[in-house]
Amino acid sequence: MGIKQPSPAIKPGIMPELPEVEATVEYLRERVEGKTITGASVSWPRTVSPSAPADFQRKILNARIHKLFRRGKYVGMELHGEARLFLFTHLRMSGSLDVVPTSFEVARHDRVCIDLNNGKSIRFNDTRKFGRMRVCVDPQDVVGHLGVEPLGSEFTPAALEELLSTRKGSIKPTLLNQSLIAGIGNIYVDEVLWKTKIHPLTSATSINPREIVALHKAIQATLQEAIEKLGTDFGDGVVDGGMYRPRVYGREGKPCSRCKCPIERIVVGQRGTHICPKCQKSPKKRAAS
Ligand SMILES: [Zn+2]
Repeated sequence: MGIKQPSPAIKPGIMPELPEVEATVEYLRERVEGKTITGASVSWPRTVSPSAPADFQRKILNARIHKLFRRGKYVGMELHGEARLFLFTHLRMSGSLDVVPTSFEVARHDRVCIDLNNGKSIRFNDTRKFGRMRVCVDPQDVVGHLGVEPLGSEFTPAALEELLSTRKGSIKPTLLNQSLIAGIGNIYVDEVLWKTKIHPLTSATSINPREIVALHKAIQATLQEAIEKLGTDFGDGVVDGGMYRPRVYGREGKPCSRCKCPIERIVVGQRGTHICPKCQKSPKKRAAS
C-alpha cells in the first residue's frame, strides 16, 4: 500500500480505538499471516484467562495463522490447525503487539510470546496488565456482544436513527456503547460530536434527522481519515507513526479551529470530554433556541 507501517507501540494510558487497532492489524497482517505457530509462552496467566496457560499453548500450537482481521477494538486471528480456532486480543489501556526476531530477549512486560516458523515472535507487551488474549472455537463467545461495525455496510443513517431512538441517555455514552456501535472510543467520539456541533450531553432521542445524517457521515469520515493516518498523533502518536491530529480531543484551552473559542474539558459519564462551548450548544441552550 506504500504507507509507512507503524511499530504498534501504544502509549500507556491511551486506549486504542478502531483506527489504532486497524493499524495494528495491518502491521501484523504483513508479518504473520500464513505463518505457523511453533511455540508459546505465557508469563502472566490472567492475560489468557479463562484458559489456563498450558491449555492456551496447547490449543494454538502448530496452527497456521490463516487471516488477520479487526472486530470493534479486538485484533482477530483466524487459526487453522486440527480445527478452526480464533485468537482475539484486546489491547485495553497499555497493550501492544510487536513482531520481533525470536532471538530477541523477552521484555519485562511481555505477557505472551508466540513463536512462528519464520524465526519471528509475536510479543504481547502490556505494562498495566489489563489486556486480554482469548482463544475460542466460536468467535461469538468473545465478540458476540459487539454492535454494528461503523464502517460496515449495515451501518446506515437509518440504522443509526433506530439505534438512537431507543436510548434513554445522552449522545456521548450512547456512541461509546460497544454493544451498539463497535470501535468508537473517547478520542473519536469527541471529534465526531465537535464536527457535527452536537453537545455530548444532548439526549440521544432528541438528535434530529438532519443531525443523524451528519453524525453518520462524520463517524465514517473521521474513522476513515484516522485509519489512513494510522491513528492519532500525540506528539509521537498513540501508535508510533500515527498522524491523525484531533480537532478537540486533548486540546483544552486551545482555539477551536472553526470559531477560535477556547476548547473546554468537561466530564460526561466519568469520561474526560472536549468541546467547543460556542459551536456545541448545551442541551439547555438548544432547547431554548
Ligand atoms: Zn467552535
